[in-house]
Amino acid sequence: MAPKSLLLLLTLISFASVGHTNPAPRALCSKNRSSLHASCCVWYDVLDDIQANLFDGGKCGDAAHESLRLTFHDAIGYSPSLTKQGKFGGGGADGSIIAFSEVETTFGPNAGIDDIVEEERPFALKHKVSFGDFIQFAGAVGVRNCAGGPRLQFLAGRPDAKQASPAGLVPSPADSVDTILARMADAGFSASEVVDLLASHSIGLQQDIDPSIAGSPFDSTPTVFDSQFFVETLLKGTLYPGDGPHHGEVMSPIRGEFRLQSDAAIARDSRTACRWQSFILNEPLMSGAFQSAMAKMAVLGQNRASLVDCSEVIPPPTFSIPRIAHLPPGKKLQDLELSCHVINLPFLSADPGPSITVPPFHL
Ligand code: CA
Ligand code: CA
Repeated sequence: MAPKSLLLLLTLISFASVGHTNPAPRALCSKNRSSLHASCCVWYDVLDDIQANLFDGGKCGDAAHESLRLTFHDAIGYSPSLTKQGKFGGGGADGSIIAFSEVETTFGPNAGIDDIVEEERPFALKHKVSFGDFIQFAGAVGVRNCAGGPRLQFLAGRPDAKQASPAGLVPSPADSVDTILARMADAGFSASEVVDLLASHSIGLQQDIDPSIAGSPFDSTPTVFDSQFFVETLLKGTLYPGDGPHHGEVMSPIRGEFRLQSDAAIARDSRTACRWQSFILNEPLMSGAFQSAMAKMAVLGQNRASLVDCSEVIPPPTFSIPRIAHLPPGKKLQDLELSCHVINLPFLSADPGPSITVPPFHL
């Protein structure tokens, strides 16, 4: 090569390395999709399959609600304090709730979770992904199927669970706030992060606490990830929507809406009330806090450094939240039982019209 050409070549290489970093090569996946990591490609195939065959065409339905619930009930089986005592402290987000379902579905707070466990199991087996990964992936996709649902981080590579979670690690709606906050602190969550995780109840519902009204939601907008849950849980309770009271249930303010004892208590507790109220008129804050807390929960008990970021497979947002928080018809600001007096809610207005009944959720 002539010296002049060599100089030009060296100049070009130097320019390329300083001024123009080539994008990282992407692995080609099915249907012309791509990923930074070839190991993420399988998740596109899982996505296609579960949107069609688990989520009924990408709906925010029963399976989406239950899939989100399952992420927590698998992950929270993790206790450093048990480990300190020399016992097995659980593997956290390891898929143990599916792998050892015969043990974990018998835990009281896991009542009714066997349905989604058995719905999810064949998908994970078919695509040869771990149960721990599948549970977090399905939860993230389920959230995205709901209007306003944020895009959660999804990391893949959790190994198979070795044994069942110990009993007693999943909080119950009948537990006191002290008990819940202590259990969650053991797993590494602050009181504020407990509230952050409870944003999930904006698209939550109960099935087994009062089976006479199975499918009754925790707020009036169970297909919308919004802050209505944080408003409505603060309204004075006036009725039992089904044949209650049941263990873990307290009176709700709206016919058809179900209120968990733990939600009502955490909404009013001095340690959590300000965080709770801060979300009502600030849905971006709620959404971001939920994303952060979920990212933390999804790797409980796992070696995060060994996981691969496949978040790009989760569908991007396509919906927006249709409206800001409001009071249901017939309710007034005075009906709110506010324990935090630092955060005011001056812009909260009530819908016109007669009081509503929230229908049970079946989709
Ligand atoms: Ca687990
Ligand atoms: Ca909602």
